[in-house]
Parts: sequence; C-alpha cells; structure tokens
Amino acid sequence: MINVLSKEIYNKIAAGEVVDRPYSVVKELVENAIDAEATEITVEIEGGGKKRVRVTDNGKGISKEDLPRAYLPHATSKLRTAEDLFTVATLGFRGEALASIAAVSRMKIVSKREGESAYSLSSEGGVLSAVTEAAGANGTEVTVEDLFFNTPARLKFLKSDTQEEGEVSNMMARFLLSRPKIAFTYYVNGKLKYRSYGDGLESALAAVYGADTVEKCYEISTEKHGIRIYGYLGNQNFSKPNRSYQSLFVNGRFVINQTVGAAVTNAYGAYLMKRQYPFFVLFLEVPAEIVDVNVHPTKADVRFADNQIIYGCVYSVVSAVLDGNSKALEYLVSNKTEKRAVQEEIPIPKAEVKSTFPESKPQPKMSYEEAKKELSFDVSPVGGRTPAPRLFQENEPFKMKVSAPAPQEKDAFEENRAFLLEKEKKQQEKIDPATLTYKGELFQTYLIYEIGDDAYFIDQHAAHERLIYNRLVARTSSREVLSQPMLVPFVLSVNSEEYAFLVRQLPLLCELGFEAEEFGGTSIKISAVPLDLQNIDLDAFFGEVLSSMETYNGIKLADLLKDKLASAACKAAVKGGEHLTDDEAKSLIREMDGDMGLRCPHGRPVAVKMKKSELEKLFKRIV
Ligand code: ADP
Ligand code: MG
Repeated sequence: MINVLSKEIYNKIAAGEVVDRPYSVVKELVENAIDAEATEITVEIEGGGKKRVRVTDNGKGISKEDLPRAYLPHATSKLRTAEDLFTVATLGFRGEALASIAAVSRMKIVSKREGESAYSLSSEGGVLSAVTEAAGANGTEVTVEDLFFNTPARLKFLKSDTQEEGEVSNMMARFLLSRPKIAFTYYVNGKLKYRSYGDGLESALAAVYGADTVEKCYEISTEKHGIRIYGYLGNQNFSKPNRSYQSLFVNGRFVINQTVGAAVTNAYGAYLMKRQYPFFVLFLEVPAEIVDVNVHPTKADVRFADNQIIYGCVYSVVSAVLDGNSKALEYLVSNKTEKRAVQEEIPIPKAEVKSTFPESKPQPKMSYEEAKKELSFDVSPVGGRTPAPRLFQENEPFKMKVSAPAPQEKDAFEENRAFLLEKEKKQQEKIDPATLTYKGELFQTYLIYEIGDDAYFIDQHAAHERLIYNRLVARTSSREVLSQPMLVPFVLSVNSEEYAFLVRQLPLLCELGFEAEEFGGTSIKISAVPLDLQNIDLDAFFGEVLSSMETYNGIKLADLLKDKLASAACKAAVKGGEHLTDDEAKSLIREMDGDMGLRCPHGRPVAVKMKKSELEKLFKRIV
C-alpha cells in the first residue's frame, strides 16, 4: 500500500536536507534577510542555537496574506515560472527553508511592510496558529526555539553548544566579510560578539579580526584576464596556527578551494615556517561560465573550468605583493603594513590609494575568453625540473609550457614560471665554504665573508638557529627520539571530548618521545618528554594541541612539534650581540655548507649578498 505522507512528515524528512543544525537555520534566515534587501541584520543565538535563534532585519517585510504562505513548503516569492530559474538572483528560491525549520521547532515570525501593520504568526512543529496583529518596526523578525524538540533522534546528532556556536560564529564572520555593506549585529547568549556598520570591507575586517589585524595586511585589488582579485593579505610576519583564518569568496560566495589555497600558500612559500598559515580574506570575481558552484549545494566547494589560469593569476599577484617586485604597485591598494619585511620599500603614491573600496571596477584589459585564446597551454607533463608547488602536486601536476607566441602583455604564467625559476636559483646558491674568506664581524651580529667580487653578510643568530633546527628535525624524523623522564609527572585533566581526542593521539605522542598514558577519569599522565624539548611548557603545548582539535578534528602533531623545535632552536642559538671567535665564525659557515639560500625557521634570510659593483655605485665610482 502506498501511503501518502502527511505534510508534517514530509517536512520532517525534507528538513534533513536544508536544516540539520543551528548553523543551517541561521544561514537560511540571514539569507532570507539579505534577499529581502535588509541593510541591518541582527542575529542572536542562545544555547549554541539549539535553544533559540533570532534574526531581525529591516528588509521589505511579509504582508499579512503572505505570512501563512511563508510556512508552506515550495512557497516562494522569488520564482514565478520555470524560466525564472535561469535568472534568479536571490540566495533562496526553493521556498522550503522556512517550512522545514518550522516543522522541527517552535517558530514565530513578526513582520511589517512599510505603510502596513505588523503581523505575527507562530507555529509549533509545523502546526500554525492564527495570524494576529502585532507591534514591530518595518522588517521581519524570525524566532526559532527548541530546534528538533519533536525529533529527538536528530537532536542527538547535534554537537555541544560550544561547537554549534562556533560554527554559527564562523559563518557570521563570513557574512560580515562578504556583505560589507550590511550592518550586522551578532549576539551569543546575550553578549555582543560582532558588530559591523555596513561601511565597507576594511571596517568589516576590523569588526571580525580587530583593527590591529587590518594594520598587518596588504590591501590588494587588480584584474587579470578578466578575473578580478581583491581583498586583504596578511604580511610576511603575520601568520596563523591554522587555516581557519583564510577566507575565500568566489563571486560573493564563501568557498574552500584547493587551487586558490595552494596558489596563496605557495606564494607565501619561504616566508612562513611549517605549520604556519597565511592570513587572507580574498575575493575572486570570475566569469560565471568558468566556475561551477554547484559541486555540492551544502558544501563550500567550487570548481573552476581552468584551474591553471586561476592558479597563475592568484599566485602571481600574491607573490608579487609579498616579494615586493615592480608589479606589486599595480596590485596594492594600500599598504597597511608599516614596515615591510622585504628589502625594497615600495613607495605608494598617495593618488593611487583608492578610498572607495571595492566599488571601483577597472575595465578588464583582456577578457577571460580572449586570454584563453591567446595562451595555449600544453599541460602534458614536461620532463626535468618541475616547479611543482607542494599542495598542487597532490591533486594534479602543475606543469605547463606556454607554447603560444608571447602576448604583448607578459602573462600570468610566464611571470609565475620566471618567479619560480628565480626563487629556485636563489635557493641553490651554494658556495664551497673553503673558498670564502672570513673578514670579520659587524655589530657583533653579522659575519662578513668575501669571495671574488661578492661579499656575504651572515646573521649569526639566524644561521645558528637554522642549523640547530635542522639537527633537531633530523633527529626527530629519523625516529632516534630520546625521552627525558620528568621528575614530577605532568597530569593533564581535560573534558571527555578532549580526552577521546588525546587518547587517539597517544601512539603518535609516544613515537615523538613523550611518555603518555591514560590516568583514570579523563586525565592523561605525561611522565617523559622528548629530549630536545626538555623545557617545553606542557600546559601551553597541550593547549595548542587541543585548540586545533576544534577546527580540525585532528592535528599534525609532528608539525606542532617542529614548531616547538624551532623555538627551542631559537633559544639555544647564539644571539646577535654575542661575540664569535674567528674559529667559531669559520665553523659556522662550514656547517652551513656554504648554503646562502638558507632561511631561519621563522623565514628570515640567513645571508645577504652584496656585490662589489653595488658598493662602487654607492661611492659613485661607477654609475
Ligand atoms: P526561499 O527563500 O527559497 O524563497 P524560504 O522558505 O526561505 O524560501 O522563504 C519563503 C518566503 O518567505 C520567501 O520567498 C519570502 O517571500 C518570504 N520571506 C522569508 N523570510 C523573509 C524575510 N526576512 N523578509 C521578507 N520576506 C521573507
Ligand atoms: Mg530562503
């Protein structure tokens, strides 16, 4: 017998698709407010959103007659005919969100259209009460209480209040960033968490990350081959312990994308040490025909028709800005960073600083289609040296050869390739230590070496730090780990979630030189630490391990340890200002094996080269 499902049951099933947690409730409600052209949106959540979610907007409101219809499945004001599907510009259009949410909660909508009265309508588990007149300002207020109160099985799938709240908060941060013209106010359990004023991206960035973060960013805006790139990039010294500080919006939509992620990460390359991630808030506007946003409707993924053109554009822009090459001027809107970590200072002509951001849209010099025609890519693997960026390799090889005659304008890929070559050349600069003459020490910090017409200045601290670090890493990764028993064991008491997480990491911890075991209840006992890390601050270390648990559900402990090794190396290395004897200076360069491309574990260069001719220019001996 075929049963016709009642409306309530249908909605309970259907709700599974759009509404599975507080996060999706908030998302749907805020998107509705945006669709209603609100300029001010307030979001309040309590109990991780399970207890209450309220979204208030000053948008166009819902009329008295439409109010009951808002609760109906497949009822939408945003589509009339099937043809509209091709031109729909709103975020929602299926008309099922409110019906789905109403079916699994206690929901109330109070709404007022301009010039009309305010009306209110409640529902409990999808059963509507009557429309009543209410008080309220223009706009709509939707309150959702006791999510899943009538579907206990689904309630069980929700995470802790803190975790659900975390997801909502992350999403709210993204709404603030991607809708900088809307003034958002966001409260968690009655406490103000974010407030933006609708006055632009910089302000939204400050609202989410704090004004000091803005100071540490480059603001960029450019257009390449019809692809517009703008946003903020953290400077070389501003990195974060995980990827949660990376936001990418493609055509206004938040996405996580490997290609762009790899391009940015590789552009930062040597500026960052392991387990540090760049900070960025980037916006890409690409022609709709080259991006497929519907990889999965609820997943933040996106697919580009041509990953290479996207990779090339992003990589060349980001690396130009970081490396301070001549192109950077073209890309930088403003340099919030007071002091650049690169050698060259880039003067930013005041006139170039645009204050209206991001409205001003330069006309594309070359459309995407034109660019594609002009460049023909040979993507078949080429032999020999492949400047394959790290992350990219996992997916597909990033190997290309521009076989078309070079267009007048140097294209992104040529630039990209030249950059990689240059970088490789720099990294390969190795000199036989025996051919270097030690010439003395400057400011008790820089050692001077001469070879032919070149002079090298070596930062003794950076060099020493690098060498110690290399030794520590070599020892750790060759598994010759030695443990140092502790006089007093360290007992870590954690909550049950953290405990479960740590227990899973125990084998790895032991492999790395810790002696750790379960210690009753939800405690872990640490009775030995890796020998190289005798002075490790265990509280801080496990704090970091656990803080990454939330965002990752897993962390590369080995990477975290490398981080610790780097700071251990830093502490152990000779400092600037400490005198080195000639013998010590010579043995340092021998240990470096004459590698002038080294960087300290924090990414600073170990050696700086100066040519005789550069000196002669300074003395005007030559011009
Ligand atoms: P959809 O957004 O896909 O149309 P929803 O179930 O989310 O479907 O909403 C149903 C309808 O309710 C919308 O089409 C819109 O007319 C109305 N509506 C919902 N929220 C709001 C709001 N905040 N302001 C004005 N109208 C709204
Ligand atoms: Mg909607």
